[in-house]
Amino acid sequence: MDHVAPQGTGAAILRVESTTRRFGRIVAVDHVDLEIHRGEFFSLLGPSGCGKTTLLRLIAGFEPLDTGRILLDGVDLGPLPPHRRPVNTVFQHYALFPHLSVFENVAFGLRRRKTPDPEVRTRVAEVLALVRLHGFEGRMPAQLSGGQRQRVALARALVLKPRILLLDEPLGALDHQLRVRMQVELKALQRVCGITFLFVTHDQNEALAMSDRIAVLSEGRVVQVGTGEDIYERPRTEFVARFMGASNLLAARVHDIVDGRARVAIRQGPECEIPVPEAIRVDLDQDVRVMLRPEWLALSLEAPREPGWASWPVRVEERHFLGAFTSFSVSGLGEDVVELNMNSNGHDGHDPLDTVRPGDPAFLVWRSGLGVLLAADDG
Ligand code: ATP
Repeated sequence: MDHVAPQGTGAAILRVESTTRRFGRIVAVDHVDLEIHRGEFFSLLGPSGCGKTTLLRLIAGFEPLDTGRILLDGVDLGPLPPHRRPVNTVFQHYALFPHLSVFENVAFGLRRRKTPDPEVRTRVAEVLALVRLHGFEGRMPAQLSGGQRQRVALARALVLKPRILLLDEPLGALDHQLRVRMQVELKALQRVCGITFLFVTHDQNEALAMSDRIAVLSEGRVVQVGTGEDIYERPRTEFVARFMGASNLLAARVHDIVDGRARVAIRQGPECEIPVPEAIRVDLDQDVRVMLRPEWLALSLEAPREPGWASWPVRVEERHFLGAFTSFSVSGLGEDVVELNMNSNGHDGHDPLDTVRPGDPAFLVWRSGLGVLLAADDG
């Protein structure tokens, strides 16, 4: 058995090893390997049907595995039924007992474990303070807002001191503003209580806002694991690049590779030198794609003179003012239209770009070296 390391060491608390779950011909979870570190906020992120919930249910013990093993602190969970596993789950539909008060809802699991009354009172009080529901003990679920109910559901799971808390789209039923507020609360709560959170979501922003690390899933497989920055800024596949946000994917060819950097010629565009990610293999003359996020690009009326910038003449096709930023579509670089976003600057008429309109010529500008190399045939 692994020794139990203190929180925040990066040591694994949960290992999912080559785990598969099939439903008839559907492979919901397909040979997944994952390592979740003690004390981290880890998200499973992917489109609907990619297998997130099934993976969570395998960990909780609600589904049997077809292959593989799942180890918690080095112990194989396989032989343990759900109620013997030191994990708890918070669901989107939090299913509080409507006839029980907030106190009794939270105390329920402790009472089932025959915890002595004084300890029940102390632990329920502590956890209600943690989720900021002190003073709500006597309320019934029907007398609570959606956010408060979700906090009771969290308290009900946390009071049992699980070694991992599994959260299946717990904010999915809340309206947008409340959802964003609860994201901040949930992250703060996780930091304070130090429990490892395994969070399922299909919402990229939610995963980025809260997670220490994220696993992106597609069709039952883990396609990339990393911090939010890794996954958004350094996607390894076209699928991840597109799934994580707007992206321009430009066809290019490799002309040279020196010291881990590739010199690539963008089709109908300039030659650029960009790093070759460790995870992909590229060869001379290989067709690749260069991914540039819209916010990495800018428009300028003149080509930049200083070194360190790449630029290319383009024609403005569309311009949309979106409040915090203005989005432009331009043509002339690569075969498709390129999208870019520029922060709004007050539009006081001092910025020459304020006058740029569809049909006008301009220069597309970005920092040399920016861009992510992707194998052209993946995703
Ligand atoms: P969502 O975000 O929509 O909840 P998900 O990523 O959580 O999706 P799962 O619910 O894990 O995906 O489903 C993965 C695949 O397995 C889907 O194709 C789904 O239809 C299928 N599936 C899940 N549970 C069952 C089941 N009990 N019987 C048959 N097929 C199932």
